[in-house]
Amino acid sequence: MADETRLIRAGASSKALAKTVGPPIQKGSTVLLPDAAALYNDEAYVTYGRQGLSAHDALREALAVLEGAVGVALYPSGLGALTGALLAVLQTGDEVLVTDAIYKPTRRFCDHMLRRFGVKTTYFDPRTAPETLIAGASPQVRVILMESPGSLSFEMQDVAHVAALARDRKILTALDNTWGAGLIYKPLDHGVDLSIQALTKYVGGHSDMFMGSVAARDPALVRALNEGVVQMGWSVAPEDAYQMLRGLRTLPLRMARHGESGLAVARWLAVQPEVITVIHPALPGAPDHQLWARDYTGACGLFGFVLKPGPQKAVEAFLDTLTLFGLGFSWGGFESLAIHCDPQLKTRKLKRDYGGALIRLHIGIEDPQDLMADLRGGLDVYADAIA
Ligand SMILES: *Cc1c(COP(=O)(O)O)cnc(C)c1O
Repeated sequence: MADETRLIRAGASSKALAKTVGPPIQKGSTVLLPDAAALYNDEAYVTYGRQGLSAHDALREALAVLEGAVGVALYPSGLGALTGALLAVLQTGDEVLVTDAIYKPTRRFCDHMLRRFGVKTTYFDPRTAPETLIAGASPQVRVILMESPGSLSFEMQDVAHVAALARDRKILTALDNTWGAGLIYKPLDHGVDLSIQALTKYVGGHSDMFMGSVAARDPALVRALNEGVVQMGWSVAPEDAYQMLRGLRTLPLRMARHGESGLAVARWLAVQPEVITVIHPALPGAPDHQLWARDYTGACGLFGFVLKPGPQKAVEAFLDTLTLFGLGFSWGGFESLAIHCDPQLKTRKLKRDYGGALIRLHIGIEDPQDLMADLRGGLDVYADAIA
C-alpha cells in the first residue's frame, strides 16, 4: 500500500493502555464500532464522541460520588449548567420562582430567553419564609431556583424546608451551590432535586477553565438532563474534564484553607473602624449564621463587608491600593480577589441600603496575615479619603 494509505492507519494501536493515576484522555469525535450491528446499538455502545469519553466518564463518576447523585451532566460553563438545568425541565406556560440574589447572568437568561419561550420568571426576596414562598406560588410554578448564599450579598434560604414544601406541591427545586461546591453543602441530601455548580470556581481551583455540572438523584431527572445535553449538542473538552477531576482530588484541602483564612480575615475586618458590617454566613452573629451552622460542614473563601459611607472615588481608592487582591470576578482560585458590588445590585427587584459600599472578597490560599496587612493599607487610604 502507498504511504498515503499506510499513514492513515499507522500508530492506531489497539494495545491495552498502561495504568496511570488519572484517567486516559481520549480525544475523539468518531468512535469506531466493532461491527456493523454495533453502529446502531446505542444501548450497548458509545457511538459518538460528543457526549464524552474516558475523562468525562471519570469526572462524572467522581462528581456523582461527591454529590451523592445517581447521575451528573456536564456543561461548557457554570452558566451553561444553570440554563441547561432549567431547559431540561421547563416548558411553555410554566413559571419559575428565582431568588432575587441570583447570579446576574442567570437572571439575564430568565428575563430574555425563557421569556421568549413563554416561561414566566418571578423573583422572590431571598429571605422569604419557606411557607410564604410556597403559599404564594401559582399553580404554573414548575421550578424554584435558589442560590444560597447569594454570591454577592450572601442571603441564605432554608433550602431543606423549601425543598420539602415544594415536593408536596410537585414543584421541583434547584440550587446554585457554587459556594458550597458539593463539599461543604450537599443539596441532594437536603431534598433538592437539581444540584448545580460552576466547577469553574472551586473544583477547577486555578481560575483557568470553564465548566458546570448538574447532579440529580431521581433517574427521570437524570434522563431529562442527559437528553437536554444531547439535544442541545453541548460538549466539553477531554483535557478540561481531566483537569477538573484533578481539581477534585485536592478540593477538600484547598476548601479547608479558604474557609479558615476567610473566617480569620472576616473576624479581623469586623473590628476595623472603617467597616460597618461583615456578611459571612460562618461568622457568629452575622446574618443567616444559624442556617449555615445547621446545614454546612465548612465555609469557602467568599464573603462580603460594608464600608462606612463614603464617595465612590474613595471606595475605588481602597480597591486600587490593594496589592495582594486582584480586581476580578471569577472566584474559587488560589488567589485573593476583591470587587465592589453596588453596580451589580442595581438589577435587583428589591433594593437594599447596606449603609455603605458592599465589598466582596475572595480569600485565596495566601498567608492570611499578609492579606490583612494589605487590607489595612487599603483601609488607611479609605479613612483618609473620607476624613
Ligand atoms: C461564576 C458563577 C456562575 C457561572 O459560572 P461560569 O462557569 O463562569 O459560567 C454561576 N453561579 C455562580 C454563583 C457563580 O459564582
